[in-house]
Amino acid sequence: MSKWKFTKGLHDLGNGCWGYLVPDGSWGWSNAGLIADGDATLLVDTLFDLKCTADMLADMRNAVPASKEIGVLVNTHADGDHTFGNQLVEGARIIGTEGTVTDFDRFDPAFLDQVMKDPGQFGVAGEFMAECFRPFDFSNITLTPPNETFKDKMTLMVGDKRVELIEVGPAHSLGDALIYVPEDKVLYTGDILFSSGTPIAWYGPVARWINVCNMVLDMDVEVIVAGHGPISTKDDVRKMRDYLVDVSEMARPFYEQGVDFLDAAYKIDLGEYRDWNDAERVIVTLQTLYDDFEAAKERPVHVPIPYFEMMKNMRKHLGKPPVHSEYCGHDH
Ligand SMILES: [Zn+2]
Ligand SMILES: [Zn+2]
Repeated sequence: MSKWKFTKGLHDLGNGCWGYLVPDGSWGWSNAGLIADGDATLLVDTLFDLKCTADMLADMRNAVPASKEIGVLVNTHADGDHTFGNQLVEGARIIGTEGTVTDFDRFDPAFLDQVMKDPGQFGVAGEFMAECFRPFDFSNITLTPPNETFKDKMTLMVGDKRVELIEVGPAHSLGDALIYVPEDKVLYTGDILFSSGTPIAWYGPVARWINVCNMVLDMDVEVIVAGHGPISTKDDVRKMRDYLVDVSEMARPFYEQGVDFLDAAYKIDLGEYRDWNDAERVIVTLQTLYDDFEAAKERPVHVPIPYFEMMKNMRKHLGKPPVHSEYCGHDH
């Protein structure tokens, strides 16, 4: 059992490092982080809508008065569940990789708002998106991308604390970055780590993501704030890496036999991974693996919407309850 409780809100990791967790870590329920020293603050990611982000910033101000003014916001990647609240951190330096900036409008909040208001017009895909994103309000969101980019590595000082930004994408997304506090052995991974849930490889190469996991396992790290799920350790990284390795190995023979990626997703034996939250995401990871195996010079860019229809069907096939079926519309 982990010594950390998986409860909503700010968790003190010690020495000015904080993790902000949102259970249960399923679709849209993402984590963030705060690093503070003296008057200086660095926020790791915002949340999926303005209300969630405002609530989080209020919690942070209560616990850490210096966070009234966030000096630096670092986005681990572009996905909306880590960036749609950016506009609430006015006046901050917003830092991300170039890939994050390129990828920033892949999910348009205005489009999601439209989906939530009338999912029927988008068919089964709309139905599943409405299910996944039901707890959120996408109105009034202005995409606010990083105003500063970095490549490879960047070192920042937060007060007297050294913080390293490490570019590791493309892997889960086009622009993934890790945020590392060496003196405290704390690592913020964004969606490079899904803890207690199924990872989803929107970009790949998956082999590269596996390498990033191995790199993290070699780092001097004790506490990890994942993109989704509880406060984690290297054990959780190992578990998720093994999922990516196993699914890659199971997918290859189907690819070689010319089996379509969607058929392959139904044919592979997920074993214990079937019980993981959001196991339907294997569909997207399979598509990405097929792109990896193809090794074409130009990787195809897939529009995400149709995959939500495929994932809805897969979720049904796996006998899973609807997403957020435990969510009753308010905080407890
Ligand atoms: Zn993501
Ligand atoms: Zn996420």
